[in-house]
Amino acid sequence: MERTLVLIKPDGVQRGLIGEIISRLERRGLKIVALKMMRITPELAARHYAVHQGKPFYEGLIRYITSGPVVAMVVEGPQAIEVVRKTMGATDPAKAEPGTIRADFGLTIGRNLVHGSDGPETAAFEIGLFFREDEILSYERAIDPWVLER
Ligand code: UDP
Repeated sequence: MERTLVLIKPDGVQRGLIGEIISRLERRGLKIVALKMMRITPELAARHYAVHQGKPFYEGLIRYITSGPVVAMVVEGPQAIEVVRKTMGATDPAKAEPGTIRADFGLTIGRNLVHGSDGPETAAFEIGLFFREDEILSYERAIDPWVLER
């Protein structure tokens, strides 16, 4: 089982796409094990996007991610990191495959609606940035045997 951090970015919240985006993850069978709405501070944004510091889009990215409330969640499932990234689509919505969140609702790379961790180390780091251990729940769902072959 894998866990990954998903953010519905400020444009997703403003455009009324919280339910739509969460639905797409739920419908795949992914399990939400932590969820909250919050405003990302400039300090948290800088830690979360530290790898992009110095890049041309960095300042705009920090302004964007801190511009309004986001929904943060931890999502669990087999290969959750890759499954979430495939469900989101390519970073640039113009290049994302139709049927993905970014292609279906986005047009430009600077307003691409969602974030999902890009690997196991990043996922562990990012989950730790956004959630305390006691905010992450372990639970069984009645549908689990119908979603997961064990
Ligand atoms: N980004 C941008 N312009 C770029 C590249 C990235 O505005 O040329 C933003 C975009 O919001 C993206 C985020 O920076 O989601 C992080 O970039 P990354 O390459 O890590 O893409 P992701 O993992 O989010 O698909």
